[in-house]
Amino acid sequence: MIKDTIHWVVLIVVLAVSGSALYSKYQDTRPCVYPVTYSIGVVDPRFEISNATLLKNTNRAVEIWNKAAGRTVLVYDPAADLKINLVYDSREANAKLGNEIARQQSSLDNARAALDAVQEEFTVRQTAYNEKVSAINARGGATRSEASSLDRERESLNALADSINKEVANYNKSIAALNAVVKEYNQTAGRTFEQGQYIQDSAGARINIFHFVDTTQLERVLAHEFGHAIGLDHNDDPKSIMFAKNESGNLIPTQSDLAALTAVCGTD
Ligand SMILES: [Zn+2]
Repeated sequence: MIKDTIHWVVLIVVLAVSGSALYSKYQDTRPCVYPVTYSIGVVDPRFEISNATLLKNTNRAVEIWNKAAGRTVLVYDPAADLKINLVYDSREANAKLGNEIARQQSSLDNARAALDAVQEEFTVRQTAYNEKVSAINARGGATRSEASSLDRERESLNALADSINKEVANYNKSIAALNAVVKEYNQTAGRTFEQGQYIQDSAGARINIFHFVDTTQLERVLAHEFGHAIGLDHNDDPKSIMFAKNESGNLIPTQSDLAALTAVCGTD
């Protein structure tokens, strides 16, 4: 008989969905009389984005308003006081952690599929072995050569079972380690956080960006904060650039955005 039984102990990885990104409220307004100038400030290298790329994204965000206004309301000036900063903190760190978890989970999924295949092979061979033993026993016992062949097969099966059990133990260890990381991730996930902010205070004006998942989201949060920089407030259309949450992916000003722009900047 084959004594080893394979026990599958598989923990479940639960990856929570990342929380909503909330724009900050602006702290001041500036009349849309002269163009607002901006420059690139401090870009944390952990965002893995070059100043040139950030400037390109920033210029695209600015063009949204310039085009809508039909004139230049925002313009790049390397000496401008309004700095665009990429500020790295737990928000971006946790997003990175989420990506790493997804990567490890996918790798463990592959390991699990390989283990399932080997276990399947083991079961087939074990069944064949047991059937052979039953048949031999039914006709009164094994010859010397049959007994020796069965011994070899049994040893081979036991070796395979040992190897599978070792791999299962390693797999379970990896899952447990990953679950610890998931727990850490989940402590921050699901919370609403600020993705960016426009600040104007005694230290001057600045736009701080804390988190973005892709170029569209970056350009949206930049356009949103620039909206505050030219004096726009939040509006209620979820598709709006000036909606309080960065969810829609829309880069075209809505009627509400345009109405607010006209109210602040006037019409040509
Ligand atoms: Zn806002």
